[in-house]
Amino acid sequence: MAASDSRWPCRDGEGNRSIPNVRETGVQTDAKVQGQEPRLSKSNLFTLLSLWMELFPKKEACQRENDPAGDSGLVVVHEHRVLGLHCSSVQLHAGQVAVVKHGPRLKGCDLYFSRKPCSTCLKMLINAGVNRISYWPGDAEIGLLSGRRDPADSGHQEALLDATAAERLKSNSRPHICVLLQPLDSTMLQSVDQTSQTCDFLGKIAADNPTLDVADVFRKEWWNNSGDFLEKFFINDEEQHMYVLNKMGLENFCVEPNFSNLRQHMRNLIRILASVAASVPVLQDEYGFFTREPLGTGSPALPQDVIRHCVIQARLLACRTEDPKVGVGAVIWAEGKQSQCDGTGRLYLVGCGYNAYPVGSQYAEYPQMDHKQKERQNRKYRYILHAEQNALTFRSAEIKEDENTMLFVTKCPCDECVPLIGCAGIKQIYTTDLDSNKVKHDISYLRFDKLNSVQRFIWQQKSARHTSEQAALPTANGCMKRRDKETHFQCNKRLRS
Ligand SMILES: [Zn+2]
Ligand SMILES: [Zn+2]
Repeated sequence: MAASDSRWPCRDGEGNRSIPNVRETGVQTDAKVQGQEPRLSKSNLFTLLSLWMELFPKKEACQRENDPAGDSGLVVVHEHRVLGLHCSSVQLHAGQVAVVKHGPRLKGCDLYFSRKPCSTCLKMLINAGVNRISYWPGDAEIGLLSGRRDPADSGHQEALLDATAAERLKSNSRPHICVLLQPLDSTMLQSVDQTSQTCDFLGKIAADNPTLDVADVFRKEWWNNSGDFLEKFFINDEEQHMYVLNKMGLENFCVEPNFSNLRQHMRNLIRILASVAASVPVLQDEYGFFTREPLGTGSPALPQDVIRHCVIQARLLACRTEDPKVGVGAVIWAEGKQSQCDGTGRLYLVGCGYNAYPVGSQYAEYPQMDHKQKERQNRKYRYILHAEQNALTFRSAEIKEDENTMLFVTKCPCDECVPLIGCAGIKQIYTTDLDSNKVKHDISYLRFDKLNSVQRFIWQQKSARHTSEQAALPTANGCMKRRDKETHFQCNKRLRS
């Protein structure tokens, strides 16, 4: 069925009709440019964000009545900008959440799902006029694998009926419904491992515990993540995977070498997710995001597992940095007053970004060097847009005075960004202050410490005061909870030895 089902492997999945500026394609792919770290392509970034959104820690386990669908994550993109990060809730599937939240604004959007959406979601999204629907080629939203061995299993019968209906909708629909995984540059995995290990969150743990082997903390966390994520997103049994691909109309992935390549790319992306998530390790009784001032009249802090989830979204965004040395990512979420149809509860995305040169610029158009370049006018600092600046510039929702709007950023905000954050109406920041009060050549971090109009929650070791005053209990469900216990135990041992 339809060669167009598999736009993979393709070097330039972003070469679609909505790109207004062809110059952009030079900086959109995973390909390594000489002298520059490899970058994640946008479609891989959005796919990873969709997988991560499926794991959003929810207050209540997603058990819908008479509904065989499992959890799923979704990224809504319009003209390359993220409009929404969603996940399924008790009442709704992720696709239904998108319809409720965005309505007519879905027209022309690209949607990235962590599972193939069911026919109930597909028919509404097709009707809404979306441009493209991409999904992760694992088990579908209504799992095809459960009860497969038992022909009388009603869940499996339901899954087969749904797969047939979804195929029919797909073949009659205008939007492109496909799998969009782009091959990774060979150095990408190594580069993400490297930047994850040297990021400020692990850097802070290293600074606090000089005798601790932080590389070991990272490796163990990576190992745990990798096991969990493979179990969740990968079909280990090749025969079962072929069965699922066939039922989803992806027969052309079942022939070699396509099949092996597909599985390798899926594994590589899962490895990247495991690395990035390991950069903010779950040391919940040891490290978390805490304020140094009394909370006073401000909004209460989010639960630690939700904070960590949002910080890791920002860390994923940082993998698309254009800065040859330091990737930074930022996401802004707000807590609305609306009902809780989204799996994120009342949280909704305001904006997100990473540090990059002005939109449309080509590699080498601006200086790439930092302080090592002697001539100050030839250094990069005056040209790079910071992650916080991009998140504010390309925000998809207004920042409201009466709502708690929160910024999650992977590095301490610099003196150029602090006044923007203060004036934009951000109420809380979740970040690291490893660079606070430092001056690093052309960039300084002196103002963050004085930003008193915003509540600052800093990645730090939990003190006795934090335990009594603001222990926000985690809400994580399922596999994450099991792992928390395990890691917690290991960390206690690690940090006390
Ligand atoms: Zn659905
Ligand atoms: Zn900045």
